[in-house]
Amino acid sequence: MMTTFQPPERLLLGPGPTNVSPRVLEALSRPTIGHLDPEFLRMMDELRTLLQYVFRTRNPVTFVVSGPGTAGMEAAVVNLVEPGDKVVVCKNGYFGERLQAMVERCGGQVVPVEFPWGRAVDPQKVEDTLKAHPDTRVVACVHAETSTGALSDVKTLAQVAHRYGALILVDAVTSLGGVPVEVDAWDLDVVYSGSQKCLSCVPGLAPVTVNARAMEVIRRRRTPVQSWFMDITLLTAYWHGETRRAYHHTAPVNALYALHEALRLIQEEGLEAVWARHHRVYEMFRPAVEALGLAYLTPEEERVPHLNVLQVPEGVDEAVLRRRLLTDFGIEIGGGLGRLAGQVWRIGLMGVNAHPRPALYALYALEQVLKQR
Ligand SMILES: *Cc1c(COP(=O)(O)O)cnc(C)c1O
Repeated sequence: MMTTFQPPERLLLGPGPTNVSPRVLEALSRPTIGHLDPEFLRMMDELRTLLQYVFRTRNPVTFVVSGPGTAGMEAAVVNLVEPGDKVVVCKNGYFGERLQAMVERCGGQVVPVEFPWGRAVDPQKVEDTLKAHPDTRVVACVHAETSTGALSDVKTLAQVAHRYGALILVDAVTSLGGVPVEVDAWDLDVVYSGSQKCLSCVPGLAPVTVNARAMEVIRRRRTPVQSWFMDITLLTAYWHGETRRAYHHTAPVNALYALHEALRLIQEEGLEAVWARHHRVYEMFRPAVEALGLAYLTPEEERVPHLNVLQVPEGVDEAVLRRRLLTDFGIEIGGGLGRLAGQVWRIGLMGVNAHPRPALYALYALEQVLKQR
């Protein structure tokens, strides 16, 4: 007979998932009801309002894709990109590469704009590329590149894209709820995120918002979206059916309760206060982690404050130290992704972990394992 699975106690300070508040876990465990139950639909309407609040948008097409952040990325790409469409993909890390791969699978013609890993996207270089490719339909970029800790100026990138008649598609998986993401004020066309980073919810949900300009492009597609599951026009009939909601797929009912509660927590504290808290904890963490002899990969003014990407000191077997953090201190941090494997540590202080206590404990644990090496 199998015994019940009891997960160990962990402090999740990697690039996600982050720890989940007890209030969110309690919401998750409430009784499952039908996904077309009027009470459930009422909860979904509230959830949409909460999502509009964190995205800072009035877009009616604001909903949740039943899948992880990558599913949000896929939904954004498959709906916007048609075969033959020219797409400028800003590549300054691992997730830019994933975006490119998805655009290619949709038959899009990718014009990559490459930047060193660890640097933000340079809007001037994107503008030069658009000048050379005036028939570009979409500019795709990652706001907070989780592989390197670089934060790009998507407000300026949106202005550049629009100046050349292109839409802007933004990955806000690691930025939403940690730093300002101003969907309306910055005029971002399609933005997706994930539940398990700064939102501190369980993994497996991808909030998405689409503005009127992008919806018009989607409505005018020459070809149907090749993914039935991800087709926004079908999905919105479930999320936004005015008089009746059409069955599309069975919503992850309990996970949506959890997201509702996670967003309520943010609303209670106030979104701006949440951003400020993430920044305060970074300001506290940075000098202390530098005093341990660790250097950031990304220049100060281009950093994601809540994801500390630090270079592994010369001669250190980073996997051994990471393992010791886990076994001796119960702390999970991230290693390097893609071409940065073995070279960096990624320490997230996101969501419920963007507080002094987890940061101080991580500093103490890091000091101990660095001393023992
Ligand atoms: C984590 C992440 C994703 C993917 O999210 P999953 O939930 O792991 O699928 C996409 N983009 C960025 C920038 C991320 O940090």
